[in-house]
Amino acid sequence: MRMVVLPGDGIGPEITSATTRVLRAASEHFQLGVAIEEHPVGHESLKKFGTTVQPGLLETVRAADGLILGPTATFDFKNEQSGEINPSKYFRKNLDLFANVRPARTYPGLRNPLGDFDLVVVRENTEGFYADRNMEQGNGEVLVTPDVVISLRRITRLCCERIARSACQLAMRRKKHLTVVHKANVLKIGDGMFLDICRETARGFPGLEIDEILVDAMMAHVVRNPNRFDVIVSTNMFGDILSDLTAELSGSLGLGGSLNVGEGHAMAQAAHGSAPDIASQDVANPFSLVLSMALLLAWHGERTGAARFGEAASAIEGAVAEAIKTGRATRDVGGKLGTTATGEAVVEILTARG
Ligand code: ATP
Ligand code: MG
Repeated sequence: MRMVVLPGDGIGPEITSATTRVLRAASEHFQLGVAIEEHPVGHESLKKFGTTVQPGLLETVRAADGLILGPTATFDFKNEQSGEINPSKYFRKNLDLFANVRPARTYPGLRNPLGDFDLVVVRENTEGFYADRNMEQGNGEVLVTPDVVISLRRITRLCCERIARSACQLAMRRKKHLTVVHKANVLKIGDGMFLDICRETARGFPGLEIDEILVDAMMAHVVRNPNRFDVIVSTNMFGDILSDLTAELSGSLGLGGSLNVGEGHAMAQAAHGSAPDIASQDVANPFSLVLSMALLLAWHGERTGAARFGEAASAIEGAVAEAIKTGRATRDVGGKLGTTATGEAVVEILTARG
C-alpha cells in the first residue's frame, strides 16, 4: 500500500509523526507492506514552493492508495491567488471526497458522565454552506456592501443521494439505525430535499430503521442520551458542528478521528484543527490521527479484499483503547505522557499482541 503523508501546521507535524510511527509498526506486525511518502503542505510548503499545495502533489496523491493529512492552518490561508490554498478543501474537492465519516465512542477508564455510546456521524463534505461557488469572494460568501454579507448554501440532488446511500450502507453494517439531522422546518427547500432523499434512499435498505431529528433538538438529544444513536447523517455544516460535540463527549476533541471518502480515494484527517495554542509542546493527543489512519487501513482492506488491513485497523483501535484505559496517554484524556511517548505506548501494546 502506497501512503502519502502530509504533516501540516500547528500540532500537525507532532501528531503525524506519532501516527506514522504506529503505521510503520502495524505494517511490519501485520505484513501490510505500507510504503510511506512524506511531503510538506501548508506553511512549510508555502515557504519552500510559494504555495501551500505544491504542483504535482495532487497527481502523487491520486496515484497512491491513501492519504494522511495533518491539520493545517486553514485560518491563515486567505488568498488562493497567491498560493494560499486550503489543503483540506483542495483534496476534498479535487478527489471528490464526498463523505466525511466521524466515529465517536466512549472508552473504559475515561470519564463518561452521559453513559457509554458508540456512534458515527456521516457528514456531507462537498457542498452546503462550505461549497465553492463561481461568485464567491470568500468561502462561499459574498460581500454586498462593506457592512452586508450574504452566505449561500448549495444543496444538490446528486450530493444528497450519494451521502444518503453511504450512510445507509454504513448503518446496515452496524445496528441498522439511521438518524437524519436536518432543519427542514426552516430550510424548507434545501433540507426538505435532503430529508426526502434520505427517506427514499433508506426505503431501499430493508430492515433499516430511520429517525428524523431537527438539528437544534439534536444537540439536546445527544447530550441527554447519546447511546440511542448509531449512524447519523447530515449536511455539511450541521455535521461538522455535531461531530465536534460527539468527539468531545467521547472524552476529548483529541479523540476525533475521521475519514474523507470518495469513489476511489480516501483521506485520513483529524476532526479537529491545527490547535496552534498547544503546538510544539509535545502535549497534543495523537489518537485523533492514529484512529483516522486506522479507518483508512480498514477502508483499503474493504476495497482490496485484503483482510489483514481490517485486522490491523481493529488492533490499532484496540491498542488506543488499552492505552487510554491504562493511562498511557496525553493529559486531555487523563494521562501524563507527551505526544511522542503516547505514540510509542500504542506501538508497544500493538506489537506485544500475538
Ligand atoms: P484551527 O483554526 O486549525 O481549527 P483552532 O484554534 O480552532 O485551530 P482546534 O484544533 O480546532 O483549534 O482545537 C480547539 C481546541 O481543542 C484547541 O485549542 C486545543 O486546546 C484542543 N485540541 C484540539 N486538538 C487537540 C489534540 N489533538 N490534543 C489535545 N487538545 C486538542
Ligand atoms: Mg477549529
